[in-house]
Amino acid sequence: MSEFDFDLFVIGGGSGGVRAARIAAGHGARVAIAEEYRYGGTCVIRGCVPKKLLVFGSHFGEEFEDAVAYGWTVGEARFDWPTLIANKDKEIDRLNRIYIRMLKDAGCHVLDGRAVLADAHTVEVGGRRHTAATILIATGGYPFVPDFPGMEHAITSNEAFHLPTMPKRVAIVGGGFIAVEFAGIFNGLGAETVLLYRGEQILRGFDREARDVVAREIVKKGIDLRCGTDVARIESQPGDTCRVTLTDGSILLADKVMYATGRRPNTDNLGLESAGVAVDSSGAVKVDQWSRSSVPHIYAVGDVTDRINLTPVALQEGHRFADAVFGARKRAVDHANVPSAVFSQPPLATVGVTEEDAVAQGREVDIFTSEFRPLRHTLTGRDEKSFVKLIVEVASDRVIGAHMVGADAAEIMQGVAVAVHAGLTKAQFDDTVGIHPTSAEEFVTLRQATRRVGAAGSRAAE
Ligand code: NDP
Repeated sequence: MSEFDFDLFVIGGGSGGVRAARIAAGHGARVAIAEEYRYGGTCVIRGCVPKKLLVFGSHFGEEFEDAVAYGWTVGEARFDWPTLIANKDKEIDRLNRIYIRMLKDAGCHVLDGRAVLADAHTVEVGGRRHTAATILIATGGYPFVPDFPGMEHAITSNEAFHLPTMPKRVAIVGGGFIAVEFAGIFNGLGAETVLLYRGEQILRGFDREARDVVAREIVKKGIDLRCGTDVARIESQPGDTCRVTLTDGSILLADKVMYATGRRPNTDNLGLESAGVAVDSSGAVKVDQWSRSSVPHIYAVGDVTDRINLTPVALQEGHRFADAVFGARKRAVDHANVPSAVFSQPPLATVGVTEEDAVAQGREVDIFTSEFRPLRHTLTGRDEKSFVKLIVEVASDRVIGAHMVGADAAEIMQGVAVAVHAGLTKAQFDDTVGIHPTSAEEFVTLRQATRRVGAAGSRAAE
């Protein structure tokens, strides 16, 4: 009989923690898991899932407009925010219950409450102490808002999901995933939407050409995108209005100012120091390729480790941790060629390197691009262009990057990611028969390189 109450104690019931708990229990481990808010974590409760539901909701305005060109007469369309929020909440409640049931069905001991490490083998939840041979930290992250005069008037995505009424004028600060996605949601639902980004172009880190296409398309849809500016201060005015003074001196009025300026690992007051777990300067738990922290029997997965902060990555990290420690199946986490998508409108999806990465890595690459009007809009007349791009290493002919901006980009990129992850060549892409008529077929019909860059001193497109 073990000297510990449990073989594994998981702190945090989000994607990574729940997956690890279930897999470990499946391998026969005695598992406890604690969650202080709601099982499901950021992704299910206040992230990916509710966000995508709001994205769906915000598309209908355009659909009604486009329907006319296809012969439909659509009556007066009206939108009711509380209905969307209530229906979204119902679905999130359902998923929350499913998560709890899955954990219980797997035989996990499910605790509600904040867990804190008392020492390297002891976790305290609601005044009760539990010991475990192995501990997994999977506490995720929280939205970060910088310190500036009036920051208390700003909301984050956490609050945006629960606003009682739809703001008519919204200012969103940031140029990353969340800012661009929420700008699309509010704009699509009819709010006057300003997107404020401090840098020179939104979506830093993505392929530059693709970023430019997203920026151009969201502006066409009505988002007031202002780059090179930031908020100096926010003052509250009568009628719940925010008076926002920007660093360029201009002033705008908004019903809500939403900050989407990154997220921070959730490690404050977790007792990490009592257990001797090392964190980096941002507070992220430092881990190796096996997700092992500086304390050999304490592991961490997901956003709390600030590696690649995406749900499917946390799932793989949690799964591989549990397999390695409890299932004698040791596989390091694979962070190569992780595909991702920004559910902007239109969406951006990507896998592999950007053109800028390839050049910076000293690789000579052929760049294949295509920009086209999707078939659907030949009738609607809507001025919307889709964009696809492949980056092909000249020496190996391997496709090392793929990028797309346009309807269904995320759905399409998942399949392309299999090919890129498998290391397929451009010749193999070309050998593949397309599906006609689709936007996806562009990925197998790009015949002529747009340019060759890298290695020989040339530069990426600007
Ligand atoms: P991101 O890191 O994507 O973007 C943060 C943005 O805020 C950047 O544009 C950054 O600017 C800006 N910023 C940072 N600090 C400041 C500051 N002090 N003042 C002004 N602007 C600032 O974070 P998000 O919050 O959008 O998302 C968090 C993470 O969640 C993402 O990295 C992603 O991993 C995940 N996520 C994934 C989604 C998906 O898969 N679809 C959806 C939503 C989130 P700069 O570029 O200049 O640094």
